[in-house]
Amino acid sequence: MALLEFTDRGIYCSRADVYIDPWRPVKRALITHGHADHSRWGNEAYLCTTSAAPVIRHRLGEVNIQTVNYGSTTTINGVKFSFHPAGHIIGSAQIRVEYGGEIWVASGDYKTEDDGISEAFAPVRCHHFITESTFGLPVYRWRPQEEIMGEINDWWRENQSAGKTSILTTYALGKAQRLLRGLDTSIGTIYTHGAVENTNEVIRRQGIDLPDTVRVTREIDKKAYPGNLVLTTPGSIGQPWIKKFTGAVVGSASGWMTLRGARRRRGADRGFVLSDHADWSGLLAAIEATGAENVYVTHGYTAIFSKYLRSLGLNAVELETEYEGEDVAEEDKLAEKEAES
Ligand SMILES: [Zn+2]
Ligand SMILES: [Zn+2]
Repeated sequence: MALLEFTDRGIYCSRADVYIDPWRPVKRALITHGHADHSRWGNEAYLCTTSAAPVIRHRLGEVNIQTVNYGSTTTINGVKFSFHPAGHIIGSAQIRVEYGGEIWVASGDYKTEDDGISEAFAPVRCHHFITESTFGLPVYRWRPQEEIMGEINDWWRENQSAGKTSILTTYALGKAQRLLRGLDTSIGTIYTHGAVENTNEVIRRQGIDLPDTVRVTREIDKKAYPGNLVLTTPGSIGQPWIKKFTGAVVGSASGWMTLRGARRRRGADRGFVLSDHADWSGLLAAIEATGAENVYVTHGYTAIFSKYLRSLGLNAVELETEYEGEDVAEEDKLAEKEAES
């Protein structure tokens, strides 16, 4: 029996009776990170990194969470588990599983560029590597974060000179905080949608510095917004909430902005290609660094990406999972629900 199996509840280690990022309720779940498709309700016990726990607690409420620091080993029925930085969002981890000399790594979501706010991705040697493939096509190649942030700040300045409000849409958890760190606060005030601000508060409370932001409320005069920037979720565009920002321009920061259609679908005037996932070369470099001969490809371009890996001589298979890609609808819905409460 393989050390990790792929079941209809998620990735399962039968020897230790634990699941990794299960999508149906289980007794014991090891969680790679706090995004909704990886960290779900209903499990009896959760194990995650110390830095991932505050957001998971905030989102799931009163659940039984144990935490572990990066690199330290938890042994369950002889199986050794440890968490290693995945560089995706704050607290995100690849989970290493070792038994009888066999090593597996379930990487969850990961990004190889160091974004300065998430713990930087660290490759882990293994025999079996489970990888995502959200952006597993050669067309996806990211430019350095500094360049993209420079473009976003220039765009904000231009909008300001035209007397317009800049609305920037992004994931509430992860990319929003990364953008906040990169925005030039000398340009103006950064306003936030409730979903973004609630997450910011959790992250500030765990001791991570973010620039000052102002939550958008009914009490704020509409005239305050022009020239300033509003950070919000893609789901808020097209909703009544957005109407208070008259004459605004909308920018969207996402890996999907590589494709023209994605920008139109989001109702964005401008797209910035910035992702919390690895691009084509990041995925390939990460897989090579593991030294793994066996690769299991989950969410994204699974068929094309696993085929390409096979052409490199790896034993690669595509896996059916319930994980989703970047800026998933579920994440949006969750953020909105959170903002309303
Ligand atoms: Zn994620
Ligand atoms: Zn994912």
